[in-house]
Amino acid sequence: MIIYGTRGVTRTREQGAFYCPQCGPDQSYKAKRARRFFTLYFIPLIPLDKLGDYVECQACQGTFNPEILDYDPNQEAAQTQALYVTAMKQVMIATLLADGVVDDDEVTLLQEIMLALGGIDVTIQDLREEIDEFSKRRIDPEKLLSELSGTLNDKGKEQVLKAAYRIAAADGHVDKSELQEIHNFGEAMNMSSAHINGVLTEAKTST
Ligand SMILES: [Zn+2]
Repeated sequence: MIIYGTRGVTRTREQGAFYCPQCGPDQSYKAKRARRFFTLYFIPLIPLDKLGDYVECQACQGTFNPEILDYDPNQEAAQTQALYVTAMKQVMIATLLADGVVDDDEVTLLQEIMLALGGIDVTIQDLREEIDEFSKRRIDPEKLLSELSGTLNDKGKEQVLKAAYRIAAADGHVDKSELQEIHNFGEAMNMSSAHINGVLTEAKTST
């Protein structure tokens, strides 16, 4: 039997020093590109489409858009969020919207999770605006994650799954279908089953 498939592979294209929005000046970075490969017997052979480019800080492991390297730190970097923070926020909103409307308690919960896992203090009003925009576009969380996966490193993907777990656990328990959904989120980000299960076990013990 011939075993074939596809897999995301991330390679470093360049490295140097940059101004990290999270840790400050003179941090070392790696510029990475994630690409989907055709695999034969689990060996990546043929490069297919590009999944994304990102810059990874070697100190905090945050990932950022490649444009971060051109930013004037005094002007713009302070407003730049790590990409996983955006991904976390968007996937939580998409998950909450999938069940219907997002009520005030849920918005407060989003705010708490953003602070606990992303270290970011978002205002209720900003979250409301983003939720409104999302509800017009009807975004499927899994599709969203497969689009974002190319700009996230392992740490970013783990934070996104933990955020999804916290949302699911908000009503006191995480049932089987919710666990399956979170598992699908991990797969949409090209994570292995073992990796996903490891993150879920960790999330379970910390909530
Ligand atoms: Zn950093």
